[in-house]
Amino acid sequence: MSNVAVCVRIRPLSEKEVQYGSIVPCIRRSDQESFTFKDDKEEESVFTFDRVFYEDSIQADVFEFVAKPIVKDAMNAINGTILAYGQTGAGKTHTMEGPNMQNLDDSSAKGILPRVAQCIFEFIQAADETSEFLIKLSMVEIYMEKIRDLLDATKNNLQVKENRAKGIFIAGVTERYVQTEKELLQILQVGLANRAVGATQMNAESSRSHCVFLFTIQQTNSEDRSMKTGKVYLVDLAGSEKVERTGAEGKLLSEAKMINKSLSALGNVINALTSETGSHVPYRDSKLTRILQESLGGNSRTTLLCCCSPSSLHVSETLSTLRFGSRAK
Ligand code: ADP
Ligand code: MG
Repeated sequence: MSNVAVCVRIRPLSEKEVQYGSIVPCIRRSDQESFTFKDDKEEESVFTFDRVFYEDSIQADVFEFVAKPIVKDAMNAINGTILAYGQTGAGKTHTMEGPNMQNLDDSSAKGILPRVAQCIFEFIQAADETSEFLIKLSMVEIYMEKIRDLLDATKNNLQVKENRAKGIFIAGVTERYVQTEKELLQILQVGLANRAVGATQMNAESSRSHCVFLFTIQQTNSEDRSMKTGKVYLVDLAGSEKVERTGAEGKLLSEAKMINKSLSALGNVINALTSETGSHVPYRDSKLTRILQESLGGNSRTTLLCCCSPSSLHVSETLSTLRFGSRAK
């Protein structure tokens, strides 16, 4: 059995898509696991995943199914990763963060991140009295294969290292210790605000980089001092859309090539993990897969969440997202 789950989330049509008259849906719902997809040549194919969240799905349901079990496992020292994949505009950030991380008043719209923050502290509340917890948060952005610390702008080219004691780690990355949900949310907000500033300074779209959130849950048993650690990675991936080779040049083209390379490296790692032949897992082919190495495969749980637009305007990108998801199973 593989520890990789693949889910699909289809967002509602946007106003623009409705205006364009692209209300012809390219997805016809069957049930919670499958749907029929109609491509631009009117050809139909059935796709099946571990779970499909349709247009009318709510954030709380996505969290319950996708993230809560992973946080729960992390409390038992099992690492987990959630990856949001899809073209720009498909709903990755909405799913991960919600409509506005700087204002979390609308609790029903909150995405996975703030719910994970809440859930960690709920689990701690409910835990055994003999358990002492230490919660840490790190946030980095990977742009053009360079790792930038979102909690300290001076660290803009971090390296991935490996040693016996720590396993694989980002050397020198900022780790913020937090004691409350509120504190955790504040640090997330600071990191995301830094991301926006950095992107503007570099004249880069945030959709062209991967954003990686790492929650570390360390537990010490106060009686025998035994320790266990679980990590949860949440990743808002760079947009998977293909850039027109003919139109793009210079920076845009090199960005596109780099994104393409790192997303295919991710696909190759997941495929190797889910293939039955026990083939070599090429973790070293990208910074992202290297960072995630100990939280993908092995004794860990991974959920790939493929985000899609329902509009016939985007059939070819949606099809490519669905194929990426299918290959990962
Ligand atoms: P991405 O991060 O993949 O580029 P976004 O999450 O920014 O895409 O989503 C694009 C737009 O669609 C945003 O305006 C967002 O608010 C909206 N959107 C995405 N998913 C949903 C959803 N499930 N419900 C309502 N609006 C959504
Ligand atoms: Mg986004």
